[in-house]
Amino acid sequence: MKRADVVIVGGSAAGPVAGITVRRQYKDKSVILIRKEEQAKVMVPCGIPYIFGTVGSPDKNVIPDALLSNNGIELIIDEAVDIDRVAKTVKTAKGESVSYGKLILAIGSLPSRPPIPGMQLKNVFPVWKEAAYLANVLSAIQKAKDVVVIGGGFIGAETADECKKIGHCNVTIVEMLPHCLMLALDTEFAAKAEAKLKERGINIITDNGVKAILGDGQVREVELRNGDKLKADVVIVGIGAVPNNELAKKAGLKIGELGGIWVDSCQKTSDENIFAVGDCAEKTSFFTGRPSAVRLASVATNEARIAGANIEAPRRKNPGVIGVFATAFGDYAVASAGLTEKAATDAGYDVVSTEASAPDRHPGCIPDASEIKVKLIFDRKTQKLLGGEISGGTSTAELTNVIAMAIQNGLTAEDVALFQMGTHPLLTASPIAYPLVNAAEMALTKMGIIKEVSDPGNGDIASASA
Ligand SMILES: Cc1cc2nc3c(=O)[nH]c(=O)nc-3n(C[C@H](O)[C@H](O)[C@H](O)COP(=O)(O)OP(=O)(O)OC[C@H]3O[C@@H](n4cnc5c(N)ncnc54)[C@H](O)[C@@H]3O)c2cc1C
Repeated sequence: MKRADVVIVGGSAAGPVAGITVRRQYKDKSVILIRKEEQAKVMVPCGIPYIFGTVGSPDKNVIPDALLSNNGIELIIDEAVDIDRVAKTVKTAKGESVSYGKLILAIGSLPSRPPIPGMQLKNVFPVWKEAAYLANVLSAIQKAKDVVVIGGGFIGAETADECKKIGHCNVTIVEMLPHCLMLALDTEFAAKAEAKLKERGINIITDNGVKAILGDGQVREVELRNGDKLKADVVIVGIGAVPNNELAKKAGLKIGELGGIWVDSCQKTSDENIFAVGDCAEKTSFFTGRPSAVRLASVATNEARIAGANIEAPRRKNPGVIGVFATAFGDYAVASAGLTEKAATDAGYDVVSTEASAPDRHPGCIPDASEIKVKLIFDRKTQKLLGGEISGGTSTAELTNVIAMAIQNGLTAEDVALFQMGTHPLLTASPIAYPLVNAAEMALTKMGIIKEVSDPGNGDIASASA
C-alpha cells in the first residue's frame, strides 16, 4: 500500500497548489496527488471557452504536469472511490489503497444541469472540464450553423464570443436576467458589456428562459418561455457549477447549506484529518459571513494555499470570499471585485457609490490608450470599500485586483484616496486623473468627510474635499 504524509485528491486548480504549498511550508512531508485525468490532459479551467476560438484545441489548454514533478509531488492517475476515515486510507477505482496522514479533497465541481426537457439530446453540452469531451464540443461547433448558449454569465458570454470567432455560425445567448453578467456587475456596466457582445455579432435574448430543448435525437430547436423558438444544432449550457460532494457524503463528512463540503476558516472539514478546498468546498461571504455561491479558480487556489499551510498547525485563516471577476470581449474588458451596488444595498449597507473615468495612458493621445471607468462602492457607516467595477482596456483586471486587496484589508475611502500609486505615460493613467483615487475622493465629498490631522506638525492640515 502506498503512503504519504499528505494525500490530495484532485488535480486541477486547487489540488496542485495545495500540494506545492505543503511542500513549501513543510519541506520534509511527502505528498501524493490522485487525479482522474491522464498525463497532459488537465484543462486550464478558465481557458476552456478559448478552446473554441483563440486557443483552438483542448491540447493547447493544459496545466503542465511538471508542476507536480518539479515540486516533489507523486502523481497517481486514478479515481478515488472511497475514504476509510478510521484506517485513514483512500480506495481507488483500480483497487489501490493509499494511506494518508492528512487528506485534502480538491475534487471540484460539476456543471449545473437544469431540469429542462431535452437536455439529453445529442449536441447539448453542459461545460465539463474534460479534454476528450471538449474536443467533441469543438468539433460540433465547427460544423454548426446555429449555436444557442444558455446563460449569459461569464462562462456563457465568453463561450458565445469565442464560438462567434469560428465565423460561420449564428450565436445566441439566452439569459433570464435583464442583462448578461448581472450577478457580478451593476446595470450600467452589464448593459455596456452586453452592447459590446452585440457589436461583435452575438444575438442576445434577456428576460427570458429556456422552456425546452427540442429535437429528434439531435437538438434542432430551443423553445423559450415566451413560446418563441430558436434554431439550434448546438446548445451550450453555461449556467454555473455545483460542488462535487459525493465522495465526501459517502465518507460521512458534513455538507454545507449550498452543497459544498463544510469547512472551518482553516479549510478543515468535520474530520480533523481531512481538508477541502476549491469548488468542492463550501464558501462563506467575506461581507456577510453567510454561505456564498462564488466558485472561481482564484478562490480555489487561495483556499489551497490556506489548507496546505494548515495541515500541521493552524497558520492561515480564510476571511471569506470577496469574489473577483474579469473578462474581455476583444479589446473591451470589464471586471468587478466585492459587492455590486445592488448586492450591497440588498445586504443592508447604506451605500455611497462614485464613478471616475480617465484614459489609461497619459497624455490620452498615447497609442493604445483606452478610457478606463472605475466605480467604487463604500459603506457610509464605516467608510470601508465594499466593491468596485471597472471597464476599459487591458489594465482593467489588475486594477480590479488592487480593489480586491483594498477590500480584503478593510481600507476606507480616505485610505484609497491616499493610496500611493506608481504611474507612467505608456502604462497607466495620469497621477492627476488616476480614476481609483479620484473615485475615492469623490466618495469622501459625498460622505461629507473632512479629516484633520491631530498633530499637524508643520502646521499643515490634511483635508479631503468636502
Ligand atoms: C468555462 C469555464 C470558465 C471559467 N473561467 C474562470 C475564470 O476566468 N476565472 C476563474 O477564477 N474561474 C473560472 N472558472 C471557474 C473555475 O474553473 C473553477 O473555479 C476551478 O476549476 C475550480 O478548481 P478546482 O480544482 O476546485 O476544481 P475542478 O477544476 O473542478 O477540478 C477537480 C479535479 O478533481 C478531480 N477529481 C474529481 N473527483 C475525483 C475523484 N473521485 N478521484 C480523483 N480525482 C477526482 C478532477 O479530475 C479534477 O482534476 C471557469 C469555469 C468554467 C467551467
